Amino acid sequence: MKIQKAPLEFDLDVLPVGMSKEAIEDHYNVLYKGYVRKYNEIQEKLEQADQAGANATYSEYRELKQEEIFTANAIRLHEAYFAGLGGDGNCHGIALDWIDRDFGSFENWVGDLRGSAMSARGWVVLAYDLADGLLHNYATDIHSEAVWTSIPLMVLDVYEHAYYLDFTTDRKRYIESWLQNCDWDYAADTIRRFDLEKVRRAA
Ligand code: FE
Repeated sequence: MKIQKAPLEFDLDVLPVGMSKEAIEDHYNVLYKGYVRKYNEIQEKLEQADQAGANATYSEYRELKQEEIFTANAIRLHEAYFAGLGGDGNCHGIALDWIDRDFGSFENWVGDLRGSAMSARGWVVLAYDLADGLLHNYATDIHSEAVWTSIPLMVLDVYEHAYYLDFTTDRKRYIESWLQNCDWDYAADTIRRFDLEKVRRAA
């Protein structure tokens, strides 16, 4: 089975406050598209790789399977990150209802988001977790860390490449800029796309 992934397009003209076009375009064109290219290259190589010689200490197959997860998650997380930018930060509708229910209030969620974003070395993912039927801010250090039953609703990239050009080392200011630019319609669209209201009622 040959899998190939095409990069998604995003409206990069809708710039987040405080972020430059140069930084966003670099992030998209160099990093995101680079992950897509490498993911496709891995899929090509898996077609020919030596399955019989696979070994958990070192083998070609192991390296390809490790980087398959790394690139697949990097692609998904960046796509959710770019898609969730360009709004006015106003959380409303079903996303706000769910945050109120699971975090107590939007302010509580923001508090946990800020703490998570300063703690993580890679990502903060506001996710609906199918296993317990609740929203979580999951903080991860690397693309290949994940809670497998989670569906990302909003994603914040806290790797330095996401903010260094515009904010140098001021991650706190970048987090506030991201909060002001969240497009919460993206979270609501994801809830609809996966029919999560029905899933949640059944949880
Ligand atoms: Fe990134």
